Amino acid sequence: MRLETLCIHAGYTPDPATGAISPPIHLSTTFERGADGEYPHGYRYARESNPNRRALEEGMAALEGGADALAFASGQAASAALFQALQPGDHVVLPLSVYYGTARLAESLFADWGLQITRVDTTDLAAVAAALTRPTRLVWIETPSNPLLAVTDIAAVVQLARRAGAMVVVDNTWATPLGQRPLELGADFAMHASTKYLGGHSDVMGGLLVAREKNDFVEKLRSVQQTGGSGAPAFDSWLVLRGIRTLACRFEAQCRSAMEVARFLARHPAVVAVHYPGLESHPGHTTAARQMRLWGAMLSFQVKGGRSEAMSVAARVRIFRRATSLGGVESLIEHRASIEGAGSRTPDNLLRLSVGLEHPDDLVEDLARALQ
Ligand SMILES: *Cc1c(COP(=O)(O)O)cnc(C)c1O
Repeated sequence: MRLETLCIHAGYTPDPATGAISPPIHLSTTFERGADGEYPHGYRYARESNPNRRALEEGMAALEGGADALAFASGQAASAALFQALQPGDHVVLPLSVYYGTARLAESLFADWGLQITRVDTTDLAAVAAALTRPTRLVWIETPSNPLLAVTDIAAVVQLARRAGAMVVVDNTWATPLGQRPLELGADFAMHASTKYLGGHSDVMGGLLVAREKNDFVEKLRSVQQTGGSGAPAFDSWLVLRGIRTLACRFEAQCRSAMEVARFLARHPAVVAVHYPGLESHPGHTTAARQMRLWGAMLSFQVKGGRSEAMSVAARVRIFRRATSLGGVESLIEHRASIEGAGSRTPDNLLRLSVGLEHPDDLVEDLARALQ
């Protein structure tokens, strides 16, 4: 099946009890044993698993082309599980340009726990190789990155990591399985904040780890999820799987509009930089062209001036909503440095856009008015 078809059918079978095409939501926390003491349907207790979570995991494994998947209560819970499955003292390579929550998780919570973190510019392969001269368990890639849209060569980093005996995880939230195929490029894990494009409607939190192969480390992850209790709840799993059904058409339309918005901003005299991998001027354009099927629907731009000029552009939009997060049907604008707070590496004149499903001409007109 092609990806568009998998979006519709992966994880779905008509309900055997009723024939329902849209699956029931199983809110039960506990499941009955047979007279023989066994669990005939494989479910015991909802912290460990439930039918909606399992359907999402099976659907996502199929969509990313992995051997198995684990669904969590948020993107951060998925990332935390990956760190928890490592040993205290393990060395992790983390990008300089990365979702600030990932950096905070690794550098504050898991530093207390003994994880050794090295931040490098993962777009610079020599810098990655230098970081890997220390014994390393995990290399984290986020491409395109938040909020600067830095593009890392996944296959090249995988090659370096393999030689060093390290695993590679790609945060594929911004590209989605439609836009980028990390496991086919050799990564061990694809990670998703399903809160974003997979859910797609700004109404559910979730996270996913998709594993290229089943092994002892994946068993450990399963134990972190089931024993630690961070798995995705039934209703949330149902909503994410429902969101995935329209992912292909939503994301393709959003990517087309994002390109129009990026081209408009790149020509605008009040804009000094546009960060979008689809633009030929983007430093990662060639790498992105090799490893991405779609350029994505996230972009950021820097206005002439500083923080107050950026804030006043954000204050003048009428269609874009001023909010954090991304991947929903409505377009969002955000002054990123404000939410990242102390320690942010984001330029003060930068605004980040999540391009939604409105007509692209309305979005361009809204930005034109705000930039006047
Ligand atoms: C939102 C996001 C996360 C974190 O996901 P939550 O569901 O908010 O915990 C991780 N990585 C990226 C790239 C994100 O955009």
